[in-house]
Amino acid sequence: MKSSDFYKRAEMLMPGGVSSPVRAIKPYPFYTVGAAGAKLVTADERELIDCCLGFGPLILGHAHPGVREAIEKQLASGWLYGTPTPLELDLAELIISDHPGLEMIRFVSSGSEATMAAIRLARGFSGKSDIVKVEGGFHGAHDAVLVKAGSGATTLGVPNSAGVLPDLVSHTRQVPFNDPEALEAMLAKNDDIAAFILEPVMGNIGLILPDDGYLAAVREITAAHDVLLIFDEVITGYRVGVGGAQVAYGVSPDLSTFGKIIGGGLPIGAFGGRRDIMEMVAPSGPVYQAGTFSGNPASLAAGLATIRYLHMHRDLYGAMEDAARAIDEAVSGRGSGTFVRLGSMFKYFFREAPPRNYLEVQECDTAAFGRFWAGMLSEGIFLPPSQFETNFLSTAHAGREIEEITAAYRKCLSE
Ligand code: PMP
Repeated sequence: MKSSDFYKRAEMLMPGGVSSPVRAIKPYPFYTVGAAGAKLVTADERELIDCCLGFGPLILGHAHPGVREAIEKQLASGWLYGTPTPLELDLAELIISDHPGLEMIRFVSSGSEATMAAIRLARGFSGKSDIVKVEGGFHGAHDAVLVKAGSGATTLGVPNSAGVLPDLVSHTRQVPFNDPEALEAMLAKNDDIAAFILEPVMGNIGLILPDDGYLAAVREITAAHDVLLIFDEVITGYRVGVGGAQVAYGVSPDLSTFGKIIGGGLPIGAFGGRRDIMEMVAPSGPVYQAGTFSGNPASLAAGLATIRYLHMHRDLYGAMEDAARAIDEAVSGRGSGTFVRLGSMFKYFFREAPPRNYLEVQECDTAAFGRFWAGMLSEGIFLPPSQFETNFLSTAHAGREIEEITAAYRKCLSE
């Protein structure tokens, strides 16, 4: 069976033939039947160098032996208990010790669940109703954050999805990224804001870096207005380094959300922060939160193995950054766009200058991206299939893979 055959079956079974929208590549997605290291193997017997990496979690690459061993060891003793486990203490201690200001944590099963709970907690703790998010910021697929970034109209939210009640998202306000004055104005005008949630480095509209001083300004402004600051580190946690963006940029939020890498490639999420806030969570406090699969032992084992490995091999962050820099240098001067990177995250934008916010990123030539993306795939490189997703490298992307990625970039950008 080939990918096209699988997709014919899928279209009858699942909306759009997929389990998550961005996978619905036209005219049909390739189906994956195996993976190891930096590579995916497709049902069409192709080997592809993977720069999507499950949309971020697989920082050690596919089927990493140490992570696999940890999962297999856990599976031999069961994979769901419905009780506390020693594993969750180990992972909690590790994450807490890596993030100054993080005093308590709760594990959930996805990044969406983590941001949903963190927002509820911020409201429960502060007694205030509204949240502010960044235009184009993505925090998962739940109602409060599925709000379209309006073109400049940043006061009241407009739902981004049918089925999300306008009433509900009227409590979600928006400001542009990299604009501390807009945040200051928003918080000065409104005294009903419980929290400001943002990705400290935007990873869901391509890759947008914070301007120098932006995150520190955001910290100062939220503190001055008694508004909680939530860093959504679902992508950046352990991706931009041990300690995530909050350590890299030296700014401590009140609450943080995590996912992806902390589960080593198995489903996970977590939220955590200041003890006085976290103690509001049930059963120690009145903010309800619960989950059958929360703290799943297999995910914890995979996450622990991954984070311990990263602790032991911190030099790998530098090696991944060097690899991204090599791609950057090789493509510089080719094509009319611009290359943006941070550590092992990178993106080529079909726009002259690096975008600084959602409005600017929308100026990208998405048709050109589409042609480029298809060219890269035919060269054997799988990039996330959108101008508005970030590319990743793993520790398994060695010299050979980087050379192939670089050569494909040069070729496809020249075309
Ligand atoms: N927050 C951010 C910053 C994300 O990138 C994502 C997913 N890409 C989420 C939250 C949602 O995580 P999940 O898909 O695990 O629900």
